[in-house]
Amino acid sequence: MPAVYKRILLKLSGEALMGDAQYGIDRTVIERIVIEIAGVLQLGVEVAIVVGGGNIFRGIKSAGDGMDRVTADYMGMLATTMNALALHDAMRRNDVVSRVQSALRIDQVVEPYIRGKALRYLEEHKVVIFAAGTGNPFFTTDTAAALRGMEMNANIVLKATKVDGIYTSDPLENKEAERFSKLTFDEAINRNLQVMDATALTLCRDQKLPINVFSIFKTGALKRVVLGEDEGTLVNV
Ligand code: UDP
Repeated sequence: MPAVYKRILLKLSGEALMGDAQYGIDRTVIERIVIEIAGVLQLGVEVAIVVGGGNIFRGIKSAGDGMDRVTADYMGMLATTMNALALHDAMRRNDVVSRVQSALRIDQVVEPYIRGKALRYLEEHKVVIFAAGTGNPFFTTDTAAALRGMEMNANIVLKATKVDGIYTSDPLENKEAERFSKLTFDEAINRNLQVMDATALTLCRDQKLPINVFSIFKTGALKRVVLGEDEGTLVNV
């Protein structure tokens, strides 16, 4: 079966990389994620990734504890870069060719973000990992995912979470909770369903870039999403 999306932007939160731990990076979890990604590369799908940093540092939390918000956000962006390096290395170990581009310049470590170069890597079927979010404080990596998704002309943003889609209420707390198969952007925004932050959602809505929320921990789920199967929740106009 052919993939329904030629190019995807995968958003991996820091939380996804730490697995069941409370902090940091779980190597086994990353390996599993890389294997899922390799599965969709085999279908000929081009893969761009935006990584979060919440498993290491979250700006808004430290700002709440009295730290200067902008400084804290730069630390958060550096945390995403550490995750990007870990992911890049796990890909190398699994023979998946990838490149890291950072929205903040740290040239000795990773390339800076250059759109044309990133597009070329994707055309060459290399995975591009975007680090440092948007490069600006007060934003999130969800917004970076929407932004890079649009810049890369991706067909869809795939938001990898721990839960397999968007539910009427928290499925871990409420057994009656039901999964939405599809939702419109307006429904997601008006119901305040914590899909992505509002900036990311409105950006995707305005540019008609669909989002699919799915579980990265469910084996084969990423593949089923790119094959257009009913997996997770599809948010569209
Ligand atoms: N961040 C930022 N600008 C961006 C993206 C991220 O300042 O464009 C900072 C912000 O402090 C955030 C941290 O980086 O808390 C980690 O990103 P995020 O919370 O989005 O990661 P995730 O929740 O996906 O793990």
